[in-house]
Amino acid sequence: MSKIETLCVQGGWQPKNGEPRVLPIYQSTTFKYESSNDMADLFDLKASGYFYTRLQNPTNDAVASKIAALEGGVAAMLTSSGQAANFYAVFNICEAGDHFISTSAIYGGTSNLFSVTMKKLGIECTFVDQDASDEEIEKAFRPNTKCFFGETVANPAGKVLDLKRFADLAHKHGVPMIVDNTFPTPILCRPIDFGVDIVTHSTTKYMDGHATAVGGCIVDSGNFDWEAQHDKFKGLTEPDPSYHGLAYTKAFGKGAFITKATAQLMRDLGSIQSPQNAFLLNLGLETLHLRMPRHCENALACAKFLKNHPKVAWVNYAGLEGDKYYELAQKQFKGGLPCGVLTFGIKGGREKSIQFMDSLKMICIVTHVADARSCVLHPASHTHRQLSDEQLIEAGVAPDLIRFSVGIENAEDIIADLTQALDKV
Ligand SMILES: *Cc1c(COP(=O)(O)O)cnc(C)c1O
Repeated sequence: MSKIETLCVQGGWQPKNGEPRVLPIYQSTTFKYESSNDMADLFDLKASGYFYTRLQNPTNDAVASKIAALEGGVAAMLTSSGQAANFYAVFNICEAGDHFISTSAIYGGTSNLFSVTMKKLGIECTFVDQDASDEEIEKAFRPNTKCFFGETVANPAGKVLDLKRFADLAHKHGVPMIVDNTFPTPILCRPIDFGVDIVTHSTTKYMDGHATAVGGCIVDSGNFDWEAQHDKFKGLTEPDPSYHGLAYTKAFGKGAFITKATAQLMRDLGSIQSPQNAFLLNLGLETLHLRMPRHCENALACAKFLKNHPKVAWVNYAGLEGDKYYELAQKQFKGGLPCGVLTFGIKGGREKSIQFMDSLKMICIVTHVADARSCVLHPASHTHRQLSDEQLIEAGVAPDLIRFSVGIENAEDIIADLTQALDKV
């Protein structure tokens, strides 16, 4: 079993004789042992097994190992949300007094986490423009820099990250590259294949795919050599007094990063995904390889339609010939298409964009993005509502920008809805 389509359907759960064919929901906080000694061995790490769902649960582990296989990583953990995944991924290597770098075109929630909340923890983030030169970007590195973060395809800006270039820049300075791969999913892009070390997801989006369960995931490639930078990553390379005095790199080798995130962060902060949600996520994953090409095919059809419409001012979709990121998308994404999300603006600005959105019938206005149903959001009126037009442009969100998440309905029906709404503008 090695092809990605097969892993989507059968990865993570291989039942033994007489066991359920479908991954069961282990709806149990706790696990039973015959003797006190049996459980003591678990706590001493002499034996491996489950004891409490905050740390590990068989349903979650099966789904995590499926996602690890899809991304080509060695280990993965599920978290309660994408926010928790990105926080844990960075906080697993950074502590008070440390610094890290992030590209500036990232999801608003992540941007706030990095610039406001992590700052309160004493961790400083420098934001860089991903379209700047290497020279410009390298100025952001400091002796206490611990990682570099970016999004494969930025939400909502749609900018595409040159994964190999950024992984190389990070490695040149002895730090791992962490990439949020929520929008392409491993079906369209596997960042580890381009040298990225750690991959995160908001599984809430395409992976679940049906807008039913909030969740997140962290996948480790196992490729970053923490020991080569022993003094920089002491949290991984030196004994952890809160965990039996173990040094994660020595005790767990390539599993060091995820083991530390589980044993320390999940133990203490507890943002576990519920097994119910992991079950729903797994159902979504079973059809991910069928849904992603359809999302992309529909998005490309809509992008072409919008591009040619006289009332549309502009369209951004990296899969569209002539787009700023078209060549990079051809190199980096299967079939050259990044995801099913595109952005565009209506001639006449903010007011006309709102009028257009209010005229849509099948395509709904929702905060969510990247599920089976087509939907739109107007960041200037919704997520970025507090900003003035000048501030919006600074934030890379044009006042007329509509984020359009193209679903897997029939493309003709989607375009018919766009047409009738454009007619009303
Ligand atoms: C939605 C999203 C997140 C946050 O995930 P939640 O599951 O909503 O916490 C992080 N990154 C990206 C790219 C997202 O789209």
